[in-house]
Amino acid sequence: MYISRQKYNSSFKIGSTTTREPGRFPTENHLVAFADTPASPASLDAFWMPFTPNRKFKQSPRLIVGSEGLYYDLADGRRVLDAIAGLWCVNAGHRHPRISAAMKAQIDVLDYASSFQIGHPAAFVLAQRLAEMAPAGMNHVFFTNSGSESVDTALKIALAYHRARGDAGRYRLIGRERAYHGVGFGGISVGGIGRQRSTFGPLLNGVDHLPHTLDLARNAFSRGEPAHGIEKADALEALLALHDPSTVAAVIVEPVAGSTGVLPPPRGYLRRLREICDKRGVLLIFDEVITGFGRLGTNFAADLFGVRPDLITTAKGLTNGAVPMGAVLMRDEVHDAFMQGSVSGIELSHGYTYSGHPLACAAAMATLDAYTQDGLIAQSAATAPYFEECLHTLRGLPGVIDVRNVGLLAGIELQPWAEGAGTHAQAVAQHCVDQGGVLVRSVGDTIALSPPFTLERRHVDQIVDSLRAAIAQTARPTDAAA
Ligand code: PLP
Repeated sequence: MYISRQKYNSSFKIGSTTTREPGRFPTENHLVAFADTPASPASLDAFWMPFTPNRKFKQSPRLIVGSEGLYYDLADGRRVLDAIAGLWCVNAGHRHPRISAAMKAQIDVLDYASSFQIGHPAAFVLAQRLAEMAPAGMNHVFFTNSGSESVDTALKIALAYHRARGDAGRYRLIGRERAYHGVGFGGISVGGIGRQRSTFGPLLNGVDHLPHTLDLARNAFSRGEPAHGIEKADALEALLALHDPSTVAAVIVEPVAGSTGVLPPPRGYLRRLREICDKRGVLLIFDEVITGFGRLGTNFAADLFGVRPDLITTAKGLTNGAVPMGAVLMRDEVHDAFMQGSVSGIELSHGYTYSGHPLACAAAMATLDAYTQDGLIAQSAATAPYFEECLHTLRGLPGVIDVRNVGLLAGIELQPWAEGAGTHAQAVAQHCVDQGGVLVRSVGDTIALSPPFTLERRHVDQIVDSLRAAIAQTARPTDAAA
């Protein structure tokens, strides 16, 4: 067996192979383990990192070499508290024993099976499990591998749904300013972050956007849903009137906008969207890639806000980030509209090689066990009030212009510095990791927090203390207290 060595000094353990039965792998001593990846690769050049200023990063790289529970181990030997759960995904904490064990067991039984015209049991069991967790009447699941794929899948299902019902004139999609729906062409078309759209050509036809809901003048320092802004949902009526409601297929929103800086919905806003969609025959899609699976203390944001959408997109927390997987949950009426005509016809010409991948199914089942049977979603709900209380003590510090939160999700918005958007929050985030041993995420001039559900009060204290010190010590004379 030949294994090419890396250029840098990694160590491989290479075992000898033994005799091989025809058609079978040798049974003894054939494992080749890749161990001890070097903490400092000789070159960082080849990897074009996503959503990263590559040249800047590679001048002073920060590498993670290990993880456990709430912590990351950095290559320089430091251990930092992960207050963003990886990238809003490691909700049960890193290397959760249940999930690791399930994945290890699965890989030794079935590594891969297609879900195209053949199947494997775990995908069906997981889909059933998700249907049981979903809001009532959402009993069907389409598997993907990421949030971006879930979004594009949901948009395609929405368009095809209307056609299946003989209403093919509904082709328009409505997103929202400041929304993040991943990086597929569908997702960036309905997405509302200009710099993620502007370099990629004309995008999808027939897309329009609702106004975003951030209103610092009226709602700064709200706890949970802000009081003002339900009327922003009425902009949907205006858009429908502009385009003719009978041409609109679906509206997609994040119930709590995440990547743009954590914007909880104004009180009553989501319900108003639902009412308008119902009146006009338009599907409502909630993108719950961040909010799904307990982030807000309930299974889904739809449960917390008491609004049932027609489709829910998920990913991230579904497998605790341990392996890529996404899922689109949908109402029975949406699914059933496709189950017409010849039984031998493919109902939806869509899917991925890795839809319902066995390893991802194993990870997801174990993750859902951790969330429900081990009580992590309940823990998330129980810690949220303390998290809220502590975060709002940051009000009054120089340059803090808003604190927003719902569940274990929060944004601390800072007054922008003259030298450029995002520089203030980047400085604070850098200080937190360097001085406070806490990893937070800067999105624009907002510090986003989305810790694992397993955090305790002392971890909340550490996060908030480190933010307080970072904000105070990076403050400029121009930073006013709000
Ligand atoms: N939708 C939302 C709401 C997200 O927050 C994200 C990622 O942050 C995505 C979609 C895209 O997910 P992925 O990066 O897995 O494609």
